[in-house]
Formats: sequence, C-alpha cells, structure tokens
Amino acid sequence: MEYPVYLQMTETENVVAVQGPSRFWEGQKLGQRVLQHDVVCHTWPERQRVLDMLEPDGPWTRISKESFNRVWSPGVEEPDLEFEAHVELARWTTFGISSKARWFARVTTLTQLRAALAWAKEREVPLLVLGGGSNMLLHGDVHALVLQVDIRGVDVSPQGATGAIVSAGAGEPWHGFVMQTLDEGWHGLENLSLIPGNVGASPMQNIGAYGVEVKDHFAWLDAVRIEDGALERFDTSNCQFGYRESVFKREERGKWIIVRVAFHLDRESPLRMGYGAIEHELASIPVERRTHRDVSEAVIRIRQSKLPDPTVVGNAGSFFKNPTVPAAVAQKLAEAHPSMPQYPQEGGAVKLAAGWLIEQSGWKGHSRETHGVHEKQALVLVHFGGATGQEVWALAQDVMASVHGKFGVQLEPEVNQIQMHPSA
Ligand SMILES: Cc1cc2nc3c(=O)[nH]c(=O)nc-3n(C[C@H](O)[C@H](O)[C@H](O)COP(=O)(O)OP(=O)(O)OC[C@H]3O[C@@H](n4cnc5c(N)ncnc54)[C@H](O)[C@@H]3O)c2cc1C
Repeated sequence: MEYPVYLQMTETENVVAVQGPSRFWEGQKLGQRVLQHDVVCHTWPERQRVLDMLEPDGPWTRISKESFNRVWSPGVEEPDLEFEAHVELARWTTFGISSKARWFARVTTLTQLRAALAWAKEREVPLLVLGGGSNMLLHGDVHALVLQVDIRGVDVSPQGATGAIVSAGAGEPWHGFVMQTLDEGWHGLENLSLIPGNVGASPMQNIGAYGVEVKDHFAWLDAVRIEDGALERFDTSNCQFGYRESVFKREERGKWIIVRVAFHLDRESPLRMGYGAIEHELASIPVERRTHRDVSEAVIRIRQSKLPDPTVVGNAGSFFKNPTVPAAVAQKLAEAHPSMPQYPQEGGAVKLAAGWLIEQSGWKGHSRETHGVHEKQALVLVHFGGATGQEVWALAQDVMASVHGKFGVQLEPEVNQIQMHPSA
C-alpha cells in the first residue's frame, strides 16, 4: 500500500488521510465548525482503528486526492517539483569537493517529498538524502536522485510550568534553530551551538558536543518510510541512540527520511559548564550571573578557535570516531604510552581520543597540496581545493593504517562515505 490513503465517511463530509499504519489526519465538519486532528497512534486500540478504516466493508470509502482536496482544500498551491539533471554538488557539501548528481530535487513539503519518492521508484533510481552536507564525503559522481530536504517551520508546545516540546522541520539549519530556542528562552541545546548541518540529520548520528548529545533532549521524530511513503513517529526507545549512532545508521539505514524532530526544552534547564574549556571561558562572569546564552557564546568561541570554518577550508568536522577498546587492551596501551588519554565507559570499555592517536602517529598538519590533516586538530581532514573524494579517502585510509600499525587500534570514519557512481 502507498500512503497517504484518502477516505471519506459514508454520507458525511468527514474525511481522513491515513499517513501510515499508526498515523492519520482527520477532518470533521460540525455545522459551521471544522475540527482537524493529527493523530499519532501509540496504543494497539488506536492502531486497530486505522486498520478498521482501511477495511473495504466499513463505513469509510476510498476517495481520490482530488476529491479529498475539494472537501479539505488547504487553499495553498503546492509548488512544482523540479528534477534537475547533472547538478554540481560542491556547494551543497562542506567538504566542497566537485561531484555531479545525476538527478537533484529540493523538497519543501511532505507532499513534494512523497512525489519525489514515487518519481524515483518509478524509474528505479536510488536515493541520496541530503541535509546541509556537513557529514558526508562524496567519492565520485552520485548516480542517484539527490533529495535535498528543505522542510521548514518551528513549533512550540508548552508542557507544565516551565517546559516545552519544541519541534523543527528537517530543513531548519541546526545552529539557527538553537539560536531561536535560546532567543525564546527554551534552554537545553546551548552546548550544541555552531554544529553545522540541518535539524533532520541531528538524530542520525546523535550529534554531540561539550558534554551534551541530541538524545539528552530528544522527544520524538517524524519520518517518512521510503518504501511506501508512510509517516511514522519514533520516540527515544525506537531510535536506539549511541555514541554518534542511531538505528538510522544501522538496522534502518536507507529506509527513512526524517521530516521533523522535537526536543524537550525547559526555561529552567541547568547550565552545563563542566566540559572542555567552558568553565575557563566563563571565568570572568560570576557563577550566579551566568546564563544559557553565556554558555552558548563560550562554546561558539571555543569551536571557532579550534575547528576550521567550512566556508574558508573544506571539511566535515571530526573525520573519525573516538575508538572504544576493552579494558584489558586499554591497560596495555596505558603501560606502553603513559600519557595516552583514556575515558572509562559504563560497562568497562574505555574510549580513546582519536585525535591524540593520529597526532602521535605524526599526521597533524600533514599536507598533500590539495588536501591534508588540519594543523590544529588532527581529527579533521581538510580540503584546500582541487582534490577528489577518492584522494581524501585514500588519505583517511593511510591515517587509519598508520594508527593501527602504531597502536593496534582500528579507527572508524564518523563521516558518511558516499559511493554511488555507476561503477560502484
Ligand atoms: C566544522 C564542523 C564541525 C562539526 N562538529 C560536530 C560536532 O561537534 N558534533 C557532531 O556530532 N557533529 C559535528 N559535525 C558533523 C555534522 O555537522 C553533523 O553530523 C550534522 O548533523 C550533519 O548534518 P547535515 O544536515 O549536514 O547532514 P548531511 O551531511 O547532509 O547528511 C548526513 C547523513 O544523514 C543523512 N540525512 C541527512 N538528512 C536526512 C534526513 N532528513 N533524513 C534521513 N537522512 C538524512 C544523509 O543521507 C547522510 O547519510 C561537524 C561538521 C563540521 C563541518
């Protein structure tokens, strides 16, 4: 079945758009009044209600999209969806490496997104979902439909005396969204200031910085299933967040497009200053006068001093994840390298600092003319101009092999490697 399915109740003007197996939009006319509900089905009886609606013998009859729109016209024309061919992607990714998309479309609504999915399905064209392009390395031309998700809008739903669930469309730029929440007094995301990219990708790898991760404030996300267009809601337990991980990078990889993400924020959320140099940055402000905005500004200053600005030099932030090793391995490494930073984790494993391992292997500041390893932060690979994705990947592999040779530790890329050229 393809979603949405439009239904009308016999002899009434009540309509339903079934968005997925556990989601429907309902419109009822009561005299002059119009009631609309977006229903997310959490329990079995609610899901059974959806199944009952879809039963052929019940009181609900399937109608066309046009009939549905005649009763419930949103009064807004959907902009036409354009499919461009052979689009240069350098400006769409922060690495800025030249690569061509076979097809490219920008979607701003759920309807457009579903139309694009149908277009690709009909032509058997693979998909590459693109947000802000700040966490991907394109190894060559992309033989796919590159779908740039630009669904916008921020929504606040107050909860209790001081809290709110604040949701944002996947296409909202992350930093702009964080600034907007702070402007409106909704606190919690300040330590995640200045992370590039868009809201939609933030749960993909559970973005994190300065002691906070998206999962710490996550409420829910809405995603469209690529296979049938069904709109589903995921809560924290379905997302299976981990360190730079979620279910969308593992079991559910390539199956969903995230369209909206919601966060639990609070006017009275505590300030988190115990990580990195935040406390030092705030030293001139008395503790009792420090605000969430101060923490955000401190994080911004620290990030600007350490990380290369992608508008100046191409990069995708940390190229590698910090590796985790068993305690016994960590113990041996500590004996051989007493100054090695180690961070014990719950369950006994130990996290190591990938940047330190790379630096000790002699790569910091390494240059291959068009690309190299950043001079201030060895975890970041940089593109000066003119490199191919494969050249950057060859450097990444050399770094991984060298760290493995010196320490016996296998590094893993954090950045998504995109290989969708015809020969791949
Ligand atoms: C200078 C710099 C600093 C950074 N610092 C940090 C940091 O501190 N912490 C951190 O965690 N990350 C950091 N990053 C990495 C990056 O900013 C984040 O991972 C960000 O969330 C990526 O968002 P994006 O919109 O650019 O995703 P993209 O690069 O466009 O996509 C990333 C992946 O998500 C998929 N995707 C994108 N949007 C959607 C969607 N709507 N639905 C389904 N799949 C989607 C893509 O297909 C791809 O696989 C940094 C990057 C840079 C350049």
